Amino acid sequence: MKKTVFLDRDGTLIEYVLELTKPEQLKILPGAVEGVKMLNEAGFLCIILTNQPIIEKGKITQAEAEEINRVLAEQFAAQGAIIDGAYICPHRFKNPQHCTCRKPDQGMVQEAVKKFDIDLSQSFMVGDSLRDIETGKRGGMKTILIGGGQGGTEDAKFFPNTVPDYTVPDMKAAAEQILRLTE
Ligand SMILES: [Mg+2]
Ligand SMILES: [Zn+2]
Repeated sequence: MKKTVFLDRDGTLIEYVLELTKPEQLKILPGAVEGVKMLNEAGFLCIILTNQPIIEKGKITQAEAEEINRVLAEQFAAQGAIIDGAYICPHRFKNPQHCTCRKPDQGMVQEAVKKFDIDLSQSFMVGDSLRDIETGKRGGMKTILIGGGQGGTEDAKFFPNTVPDYTVPDMKAAAEQILRLTE
């Protein structure tokens, strides 16, 4: 079974923008490539989990969102960092037919577990929002909050009792924390 670091995308690997609809808007955050590379070398799969309600809102198609993730993975790969997979929840927050994939629900996690044979007890969730931290907790993972991000304050009211195991300034520091815990 494989150990994995699940990664939020917006505000964690790339700069947060309100509506990311084109690959040209991708701006990789400092430390993100280096952090992913360190995790690759330590034998972790690196898998993106991203909520993109702008798909259901009609601002972007599922195919366009997948293309953005493909370009992002290509930009990482060009610098020697491997992103092993990316999952998207396209649903809206207020979808009356409540989906099971929108973080913090476990749909995307479970899909990845099946595809890659992942041991969640040896895995981590890294994100800039308490929604990501709650996702990791529900999956039985250790959790790392990238501090100071947009998402950290935005979701605070929805997850008042959710506390990350660790808080760090950026993705590189998150990788260092994970390596300290697992080596
Ligand atoms: Mg985020
Ligand atoms: Zn969904």
